[in-house]
Amino acid sequence: MDDRPYFITVEEAQSISNQTPPTLRIEHLPIEACSGRVLAEDLASKVNDPPFDNSAMDGFACRFDAEAVYPCTLTVVGLQAATGENEAIEVGPGEAVRIMTGAPMPPGADAILPIERCTVNDTTVVLLDPPKPHFVRKLGENLTKGTTALTKGQRLTPARVGLCATMGHATVPVFQRLRIAIVSTGDELKSPGEPLSHGEIYESNSYGLAGLVEWSGHTPVRFPAVADTMDELRKALTEAAETCDLILTSGGVSMGEFDYVRRIMEEEGDVHFWRMKIRPGSPPLFGLWNDTPLFGLPGNPVSSHVVFRMLVAPYLRHALGTDGPKEWKVRARLCDPVKSTSDCMTLRRVTLTSTEDGMMAHQPRHQGSGNIESLASASGLTLLQPGQSGEVGAWIDVLVL
Ligand code: AMP
Ligand code: MG
Repeated sequence: MDDRPYFITVEEAQSISNQTPPTLRIEHLPIEACSGRVLAEDLASKVNDPPFDNSAMDGFACRFDAEAVYPCTLTVVGLQAATGENEAIEVGPGEAVRIMTGAPMPPGADAILPIERCTVNDTTVVLLDPPKPHFVRKLGENLTKGTTALTKGQRLTPARVGLCATMGHATVPVFQRLRIAIVSTGDELKSPGEPLSHGEIYESNSYGLAGLVEWSGHTPVRFPAVADTMDELRKALTEAAETCDLILTSGGVSMGEFDYVRRIMEEEGDVHFWRMKIRPGSPPLFGLWNDTPLFGLPGNPVSSHVVFRMLVAPYLRHALGTDGPKEWKVRARLCDPVKSTSDCMTLRRVTLTSTEDGMMAHQPRHQGSGNIESLASASGLTLLQPGQSGEVGAWIDVLVL
């Protein structure tokens, strides 16, 4: 460890871990299964959108006549439904066709008047206003065939899934979800529901981290909590490396006598960094166990969440080259003092309220890094840079949770 940086910045930690990404695989999914996934290749349109000129309104299609005087009576020569039947109806001067939204424009017609501005008689229609050429949706006006409208790395939001279908793709190439092992460590940990003896607590990190892994778009693989022994830990990490693409551990990375994650990684694994300048959550570690990337997250429940958001989420986004899940940073005014430091980034839990004067950030609660309730009730994390003032009235960046 001697030649390795000591307490690096969050940015340095991100760039070191980015150099060792997990292995990615591509799968081709039916379009109905691709929502929320990340596109693995650029997608070009197989068709023009729209594929033909069509009506944007229910109304009458006719020829635009600059000389006409309104109201103006036209002869109705047919009905054009969205199915495309009767497509051959020709519209001449003085004629109109009843048309539905999305139906192909009849040959000869170039303008539409919505039905609300028409009076319909037996075989004629009275147009109260001039018909509008802009109610015709032109072939290819949204997309032309061959245009790349979605690019590799984009997360498939509902609108993007709709666009895949519009472009004619029945299957979509996406990155396989990564299998991410979650190994919590500590002799004191019991599963929720079990009775607690003195000195024991409920294991909570693996559940919270599993939620964060799902939020990131990947598959959590929770391991049973591991006791603080080198043998148990070695067994769990080796199984995790064999079955998963990335390993997250919680606990055992600080300076305690039983902090075996750090020890085993130093003695038998490969540590790329340990400890960064962040409050809370300073002891994280990154490296390789049997060629599988591993983040050693701190044991304190708030710290493990915060470090996931600052280190693991950006790592996963970088690996897939993706724009999701979207994280919002907003400017907010501090309404309570937040203790900042000269060398660490400070992430305190705040609640955000939107007011006429902008976003306001309150820090109403006890903020110990063991207090998961302070995170559960928060809507943001302060992104106070080293040396930045955390006084009341300061405008700061807040990460929206
Ligand atoms: P450690 O880093 O292992 O010393 O753990 C720091 C603190 O976090 C201790 O108070 C642990 O009891 C607690 N802790 C560690 N792992 C977990 C976990 N999985 N769930 C809840 N608390 C934990
Ligand atoms: Mg521990």
